[in-house]
Amino acid sequence: MGLHNSLLPLKPTPVTLVGHPIKKRVFEQALEVGPLFGRLVHAVSQDHDYIRAALKNVSDPFTVRLLSIMNEVDKEGEKQHLAMGIHRSDYMIHRGEKLQQVEINTISSAFGALSHQMSSFHTHLIHQWGHLKDGKASEHLNHGLLSRAALPNPSLAQIVDLFGSAVYQYCARVHKPQRSKKTVAVLMIVQPGERNSIDQRWLQYAMESKHQIRLLRHCLSYVDTNATIESNGTLVLDGFEIAVAYYRAGYTPNDYPTESQWNARIKVEKSLAIKCPNIAYHLVGTKKMQQVLALPNQVERFLTNPDESSAVRSCFAGLFSLDEGDKGVDEVIKKALEHPHAYVMKPQREGGGNLLANEEMVEALKTMSPKRRSDYILMERIEPEAHRSILFRDSQYTITPCIAELGVYCLMLADQTDEIVNNSDGWLLRSKPESVEDGGVAAGRAFLDSPYLY
Ligand code: ADP
Ligand code: MG
Repeated sequence: MGLHNSLLPLKPTPVTLVGHPIKKRVFEQALEVGPLFGRLVHAVSQDHDYIRAALKNVSDPFTVRLLSIMNEVDKEGEKQHLAMGIHRSDYMIHRGEKLQQVEINTISSAFGALSHQMSSFHTHLIHQWGHLKDGKASEHLNHGLLSRAALPNPSLAQIVDLFGSAVYQYCARVHKPQRSKKTVAVLMIVQPGERNSIDQRWLQYAMESKHQIRLLRHCLSYVDTNATIESNGTLVLDGFEIAVAYYRAGYTPNDYPTESQWNARIKVEKSLAIKCPNIAYHLVGTKKMQQVLALPNQVERFLTNPDESSAVRSCFAGLFSLDEGDKGVDEVIKKALEHPHAYVMKPQREGGGNLLANEEMVEALKTMSPKRRSDYILMERIEPEAHRSILFRDSQYTITPCIAELGVYCLMLADQTDEIVNNSDGWLLRSKPESVEDGGVAAGRAFLDSPYLY
């Protein structure tokens, strides 16, 4: 399985040693709009024809395969109508004032546990340094250090409670009126050689202690070989009945090196387990969908309350289709070639390391065939303010101007008619040196951080 070997040697997550300033008003806006993004994703996920139409020109084989799974499940009829989302809506704050969404992640949104720890870590350091007379790092900080105490971040507790609610709902709906003969468990699907296992283990231990939930951690290939579906649709693995299948893998084509991994994905998708996310949620998180929803009247189609749709829309930066033949494609390409610094280009990929900017973007726009270009979108560049920070990685610290990306966890448990859980009180803050274009802690570019509000 590769899981045991991956535990050694452990490599600490890169972190900042001081928090990043964020305007209180903007931070509160990010938390307030979170449930609306949860509602939007859920509403879109219910409309599979809309998803098919939005992604019809995408030729990227990975997205096409995900679509084919949705179509296959549609033919058989979905067994489990409860959908569970641990989405993370990521923002950068344009010039320190304007909340602008970078993307929304609907699969494998990581760091819920470690970001909770970052608040305590920063508060601890501030208290240590606040009392040091000649602490080296503190020389580089502004005055008023103690006022920077980090906000307690409820991300971990809320995610754990979401699992509690999902397992409860599964049992109440599937087993009613009898209890299951098997022990019910959550299955966390992870990558072989998983590098972010501490974040995952923390979640596991918190689930065990708070809700007495048993959690199994396995790779897709293990699920393919060992999981079975019973006649009523129950997913069974190693004698446990899987109430929730939670993906911390499966978001990149690299996670599907053989048909075995795809078989596992299909098996889970066709089962009675609650999927976090189900295939429709996964597809709603694609970059192309983000661009399509930003078109006129699209968000409004799903969020019919105008206050809600305009609150969501106010977070959109300019997003542009590069689909062959779509309105305005030639004009936006011309603009991007004239002002490359004002745009970035993104493929249908997750996990960092895929962004095209500056010369790379220009080269791609000039040389890509129109068909290949349809797998990308163009986006207006967001320009966050840089603030000096202390970055700590591999036992070394560097002091440098940094820009931050704020992610808000949008936690959802809903069926076709009811929202059972929809809250967004926890966050993740990541910072990177101002000069670095792409992000991602796992991709080696960003550092876990925490906000302090002003
Ligand atoms: P991924 O799925 O790879 O995380 P993102 O859309 O989050 O894709 O882009 C990766 C990184 O690129 C972000 O973390 C951010 O640092 C940078 N980025 C993305 N979109 C923009 C933008 N519009 N303006 C400036 N930087 C961006
Ligand atoms: Mg991202």
